Amino acid sequence: MLEQLESLYQQALTNLQAAPDTAALEDWYRDTLGRKGQVQLLSRQVGQLEPAQRPAFGQRINSVKNELEAAYQQRAAALKMAELEARLAAEQLDVTLPGRQQFHGRLHPASQTLRQIYRIWGDMGFQIYRSRDVETDEYNFELLNIPQHHPARDMWDTFHTTAPGIILRTHTSPGQIHAMKEYFPEPIRVILPGMCYRYEQITARSEIQFHQVEGLAVGKNINMTHLKGTLTDFARRMFGAERKVRFRANYFPFTEPSAEMDVECFLCEGSGCHLCKQTGWLEILGCGMVHPTVLRNGGYDPAVYAGFAFGMGPERIAMLKYGIEDIRYFWSNDLRFLEQF
Ligand SMILES: [Zn+2]
Repeated sequence: MLEQLESLYQQALTNLQAAPDTAALEDWYRDTLGRKGQVQLLSRQVGQLEPAQRPAFGQRINSVKNELEAAYQQRAAALKMAELEARLAAEQLDVTLPGRQQFHGRLHPASQTLRQIYRIWGDMGFQIYRSRDVETDEYNFELLNIPQHHPARDMWDTFHTTAPGIILRTHTSPGQIHAMKEYFPEPIRVILPGMCYRYEQITARSEIQFHQVEGLAVGKNINMTHLKGTLTDFARRMFGAERKVRFRANYFPFTEPSAEMDVECFLCEGSGCHLCKQTGWLEILGCGMVHPTVLRNGGYDPAVYAGFAFGMGPERIAMLKYGIEDIRYFWSNDLRFLEQF
């Protein structure tokens, strides 16, 4: 019977190598190592042996099983690989391969907010007017009614370049002067978006660079009513049609009178929460009627023309909208943050 086992073993190995494909391999497995396979059948006959011969036979049949099992696994792997290679050679497209993950880029949350703002002002007839990030002291301060000695200069700690009088703009307002000088004597409806720079301690609430979107309307017979109506319309388009707004008197050197506009808190709808610090209002932008000196500096006679201007921070708006608690996330390039938008 041991001889029978050995010849079965040799025959099985030969058949295994001869199996042409995985289907034949499965047949081989069933006939050889399966529950009713030849090895199993033979092992059941162990009772017919002399008791003294049984341990040696049992041992051998176990090792034959293990060796055949190992040979089967090897052959199965080789056949599978060969079949895959044959298929790859025959077919241009292997639809069974797992797909490669595509990473989709998307717009930065600040860009998303900027584009939303552009769209709204575009619908309202305002064009985008770009001006440079590097400015002269004259345009950034003097022509905007902020002379050398003016205390408001302390509000904008400035990055100076090595060239005297050349600075990084601290606000987008110098664009107002550029726009006025370019458009005079035509009426103006522009927004001036761009990056601003301030020499400040970086904290959760303040960054050394941030976007501003400034707006300017100049023409004849423009008054405070136009400012309030236009900005109220903007707030409703931006934050929801039912949103209430309010104006509070404020001070800016380049507008007179000046105001801040608040919108009703969109988290609590005015009832008071942590976002609005229980006031029910969120401060969104600064605005005012263009100061006569600024109009004159831009080439428009304040006796004939008037205008209104406003400025807002898209990052601040995004922070309020999405509940972002730290402004430093915007420019730290952390994908864990950016991929949430
Ligand atoms: Zn609130």
